[in-house]
Amino acid sequence: MADKQTELKAMLDQGLITQADYDQQMAQLNSNHLDQADVKPEATKQAAKFAVKTTCPNCGSTDFAWQPSLQKFACNYCKAQFEIETPDYLAKAAALKNDEVYNLSGKTVSVGLSKAVDKENVGIVTYQCPNCGATISFSTQDAWSSIKCEWCRGEISAENVVPNGYNPDLVVRFEVAKEQAQANVADFINRRRWLVSKKFLREFKAADIRPVYVPQMMIDVNANESIQGLGGVLLNMYTETYESDDGKSTYSVTYYDYDVYQWERHFVLGINDLTLGANEALSQQSKTSTNNVIDVVKPFDTSKAVPYQHQYLQGGYRSERRTLDVDDVTPDVQKIAIDMGYSQVQPTLNYDHGVRYDNATMEVNGIRYAAVLCPIWLYSYYEYDSKGNFKRQHYCVVNGQTGKTIGSMPINVTAQIGWSIAGAVAMFVLLFFVFPFGGVDIDIKWILGLSVAVFAAIAYFTYTAVRNTDKHNDYVRNTENEMFDLESSDVWVDRVIRSTNPSI
Ligand SMILES: [Zn+2]
Ligand SMILES: [Zn+2]
Repeated sequence: MADKQTELKAMLDQGLITQADYDQQMAQLNSNHLDQADVKPEATKQAAKFAVKTTCPNCGSTDFAWQPSLQKFACNYCKAQFEIETPDYLAKAAALKNDEVYNLSGKTVSVGLSKAVDKENVGIVTYQCPNCGATISFSTQDAWSSIKCEWCRGEISAENVVPNGYNPDLVVRFEVAKEQAQANVADFINRRRWLVSKKFLREFKAADIRPVYVPQMMIDVNANESIQGLGGVLLNMYTETYESDDGKSTYSVTYYDYDVYQWERHFVLGINDLTLGANEALSQQSKTSTNNVIDVVKPFDTSKAVPYQHQYLQGGYRSERRTLDVDDVTPDVQKIAIDMGYSQVQPTLNYDHGVRYDNATMEVNGIRYAAVLCPIWLYSYYEYDSKGNFKRQHYCVVNGQTGKTIGSMPINVTAQIGWSIAGAVAMFVLLFFVFPFGGVDIDIKWILGLSVAVFAAIAYFTYTAVRNTDKHNDYVRNTENEMFDLESSDVWVDRVIRSTNPSI
């Protein structure tokens, strides 16, 4: 602790921190320890404000930026590397552990999600792109004259300044360096190059990839859930053979004897760090932009989140503004919590003749919301039709923490149809010419039908391989969730004999 005091004194002497910040930091050092429970959101916010250096500790320059490959800040002027110190108690307050979700009660909304912070928001400036409407925040250190929208690459000027909105609470920092992100995207595109529009391939420049923080709401939930339904237990299965009415053929019927049970499961569901998009435009399904791929690069390891500092938006890093509030995402939280409940309950249902889910209810005991920025590398591309009209905005996205990569690209329609026809023709040749040689005779209707099916299947698979429209984030699988205090009841209600239903 003595070291820390000396360092603080030195920082004060060098003018790196103000007297007020110094006093507050010293007071905190002297209070021995702060348990997580003692950390008030306001204190967290204030402590976070001075935990970061605003100038290079070596040369005093303000020209520095986060370096993903070093996991440090580096000065662009003197090349010094330095870290932002996150005191232990702040790091602890940053994220609940899953076992702590078990004790969560009441509703907690972080400082970053309350409106009070609006006035205190310092160090960043926000612009709204006049071309595509995106809101872009970045450090006041970066010259506004050089700003291009990372979503549509439109020019943005000082006239487009809008209020900043609210400071987020936390940030998941970039770990993937630009070179790696470029390589990931180039590789992703290259593996699909036979199916991607030639114009896109010609115009693609890996260097145009941009580091962007997307605003997310991070949510912990503790809820009582009840799920009810019916289940069948097979007793007997038998097949009987009958003669047809005209006596010329036979047919068989399979019968099932089974017991029907009414089952109920009551439990506490704990969800840790569910992250949902907090920017309305990016969260919406859209026909003209491929927003879905942004969610697909999840999950982020939010246990590594640190308190937000505006210095993370320095040196080319941008952030989208949060536009959604707690109430806007709550219906999605409930839907996801019920889905998680279903998948938790499933292994507890020992029924071999079908399960029916009739009803699920949920009552929230505790819920905690925080605002977090998550890092992505973004490549955006505008597709125009043959008449030059805007058609669609495509994104290729790399998770800035894990490197997971996905994208949407304009398809090469000629290649798509070409491959589909080739497949259909191959199928036709096989069935029409090759099979009859082997002694198998197939009806021409079947041959044509199967050939058309092959055409449709290839057209579909080539389309989704390039556009990834069918991909969405699987929150149920990608989010830590646990079932506690399970109470089960399984009550016999009926016995069914000689049913032809293969499932209840
Ligand atoms: Zn320096
Ligand atoms: Zn734009």
